[in-house]
Amino acid sequence: MLSQLNEDFSQHTPMMQQYLTIKKEHPDLLLFYRMGDFYELFFEDAELGARILGITLTQRGSSGGNPIKMAGVPYHAAEQYLIKLVKQGISVALVEQVGDVANSKGPVERKVTRIITPGTLTDDSLLDEKQSNILLSIYRHKHNFGLAWLSLSSGSFMLYEGSSNEIINQLERLRPAEVLAVDTMINELKQYKPLISYKAFSEWHFDLDLARRKLCEHFAVKNLDGFGLGQAKLALGAASVLLDYAKQTQNNDLPHINKIVMDNQANYLILDAISRRNLEISLTMRGESAPTLVSTLDKCVTGMGSRLLDFWLNNPLRQHDLILQRYQAVANLAKLAPNIHEVLRNICDIERVSSRIALRSAKPRDLVGLRTSLALMPQLACLESISSSNSVLVNQLYGAIKSIDQQMVDYLDKALLSEPSLLVRDGGVINNGFNSELDYLRNIRRNGDEFLLALEQKERERTGVTSLKVEYNRVHGYYIELSRSNLANIPQDYQRTQTLKNAERFTTLELKKFETEVLSAHDKALALEKLIYEQILDYLINYITPLQDLAKALASLDVLCCFAKLAQENNYCQPELSMTYGINIIGGRHPVVEQQLDNFIANDINLDSKRKFLLITGPNMGGKSTYMRQCAIITLMAYCGCFVPAQSAQIGDIDRIFTRIGASDDLAAGKSTFMLEMSETANILHNATNSSLVIMDEVGRGTSTFDGLALAYAISRYLVEQSQAYTLFATHYFELTSLNKHYPTLVNVHLSAVEHKDEIIFMHQVEDGPAAKSYGIQVAALAGVPKSVLSCAKKYLLQLEKTNQTPVVEDLFSNYLEPLDVENLDLVEEAILEPLSLQEQQVLTAIADLDIEQMTAKQAFDLLYELHQSLTS
Ligand code: ADP
Repeated sequence: MLSQLNEDFSQHTPMMQQYLTIKKEHPDLLLFYRMGDFYELFFEDAELGARILGITLTQRGSSGGNPIKMAGVPYHAAEQYLIKLVKQGISVALVEQVGDVANSKGPVERKVTRIITPGTLTDDSLLDEKQSNILLSIYRHKHNFGLAWLSLSSGSFMLYEGSSNEIINQLERLRPAEVLAVDTMINELKQYKPLISYKAFSEWHFDLDLARRKLCEHFAVKNLDGFGLGQAKLALGAASVLLDYAKQTQNNDLPHINKIVMDNQANYLILDAISRRNLEISLTMRGESAPTLVSTLDKCVTGMGSRLLDFWLNNPLRQHDLILQRYQAVANLAKLAPNIHEVLRNICDIERVSSRIALRSAKPRDLVGLRTSLALMPQLACLESISSSNSVLVNQLYGAIKSIDQQMVDYLDKALLSEPSLLVRDGGVINNGFNSELDYLRNIRRNGDEFLLALEQKERERTGVTSLKVEYNRVHGYYIELSRSNLANIPQDYQRTQTLKNAERFTTLELKKFETEVLSAHDKALALEKLIYEQILDYLINYITPLQDLAKALASLDVLCCFAKLAQENNYCQPELSMTYGINIIGGRHPVVEQQLDNFIANDINLDSKRKFLLITGPNMGGKSTYMRQCAIITLMAYCGCFVPAQSAQIGDIDRIFTRIGASDDLAAGKSTFMLEMSETANILHNATNSSLVIMDEVGRGTSTFDGLALAYAISRYLVEQSQAYTLFATHYFELTSLNKHYPTLVNVHLSAVEHKDEIIFMHQVEDGPAAKSYGIQVAALAGVPKSVLSCAKKYLLQLEKTNQTPVVEDLFSNYLEPLDVENLDLVEEAILEPLSLQEQQVLTAIADLDIEQMTAKQAFDLLYELHQSLTS
């Protein structure tokens, strides 16, 4: 923030006074202050800009006794700098000259004309074509919260209300670019997602009555019941803050935001934040955008389609009838998909263009894109043949496509030149014949050419100089040029304007009059073009709703054709959804991993009421994680209406997918790996129902062997006895494989591997029964662990297998320890065999004495707590 802002501005120069007054109104924004062909940044803004944008920091003069630090970017190249700033989460205010430069006394009047923030972008150049740009507003009160989010570039405006513990899940689902929140939450949110741009608002902004009034005003309705928002409270507060903010940044009433929808989670299969990340739907675990499920499945040909695909994959439906409509459409589009994609490929981003029309920032290029796209619509008439067969969805989509008013298409044809200039202010945008006054003004110039030819002829005759020329240049305007050798004959009324090396230039009263007429006609034509362009926007604003509907229909069509293409090219099958319990997949594959391998081994999965819990064993690298994820992803894809990578897939009614995969420290959130593992597990145990699909990979690995085993044991039992969820549970605790003796619904399967000489070969095939071996040492060999360590481990393992019991570590030293044939033996020993404290030994003995079979999950947890206390107190 500028230190100058608290001072008295009167000692500053008039221009700096103006600058500081505007800056004081927007202290959090970087001010791009327009001066001629540059946007200038001053004081601390200049320093920050110079650092981030790599532009030169200069000092120009002083104001109020201090040097003025300054850095500037050229006006015409501003966009590339804005992109950099917005990517860093920095918001910018564009301050333009709005007063009349010629008639201003002192600095010309300037105003903030637009505020550019990460969540309110609408310019094509600032947006990612394939990503929605979401502005989110959050209001929390006691244990509940309300959300409102807006995609300004598409006009979609939605609400959600839930209990506080869901906030993180929603943040992960919506992936906002910018968050507005009640000030008490900002720090907490920043801890979770430090890279998002935040804006704090005090509590009163979210007042319910105020919110209702403002929203009714915006939508021009008496109450919000028509939107089904009768019950909403906290979300309305959030919505009103959001709408105010968006309007302020755009300096516009946002007419394209014409409805508000309550997002009902009951309509979606629930995925919590962790599962979204674990399944790598839109981002990899490392936060990259490929290879992910979205990046692999995205065969869409429009940005609108790619964005919708991302939304669909992140919001699987629960209503089977809607999903079936998508399957039906995909099946029906199988043959036509390539042709339809060819048409869609040439369509502009109608969704974003219509928003820019509403915001009055659409450029001529946008309107031409729209015109071309609308003209292509008849080529989609092939959909008629499908929609007349039995595809409800295609019928709907084609309906929206057909209903585009031909009048608008004709209007655009008439209104715009076939290749208009990029900017309205340059002229050459409005078509001839569209406005008679414009035609008249343009004609003055065109007729002028004839006039000039005639004048040239006349003057040649008058002077007798056949080389006399009447010409024009930008600096000197129109002139008559005579070469030096012909100057003897110049008429008296010639006024000399310029002397060149070999020629002289003149003007006459007649030529001057002509020039004034032409130039003023040109200026008038430019001003008129601007005015007509605004009228074109006014006209098009009436069509915003049908254009938005058209955009949605085309996006859906693009995604459905993408699904059809995937089905053919990647050999996906149509899943069968049913309300019968169970998941039965034959020949299932992992859609992302299979694209990266030459030879992916397909596997079946069969879960039903008699077989609900698969305990999966097998060597590391055997394919356990891939197998479990592929089951979750196939289920998810099926619930999005996409065909799936399998020979056949029957999938019952699933309410949620939970995953607990891998362990990665979330140090930013202050959680250690084990703590994180347990909090994710707790979430699953609390929330999984018997219709949930639960995937657990190596639970308990983050702690010591015994309490890890005890936990894995108790957690498995809880899932089998209490949750009764469909569970895939991969573990390296072989002890657990005996659980199936007590629980018939728990079934052992394993990922097979074979040993060949000293090597291990992974078969990646799922087979019944527990794994015979864990092959840990062979996998360590593959990973390049030194031979001496491997042979030591092998000997030790042999002994362990012989005695068939876990020795106390003290015994280990005395009975089995042999020197390693390496120099740094001590280090290796230390790494492998760290002596236990007395307390630790007591804990081990206590665990060894347990009758685990007889314990309930609660007893196991209580005991674990006790043991933990004894070690840490
Ligand atoms: P685990 O969880 O058992 O350690 P992963 O699922 O991580 O094993 O798989 C390890 C590697 O094995 C994967 O990166 C992949 O390259 C390969 N793989 C896994 N499943 C298959 C499969 N079904 N067919 C072919 N290769 C596979």
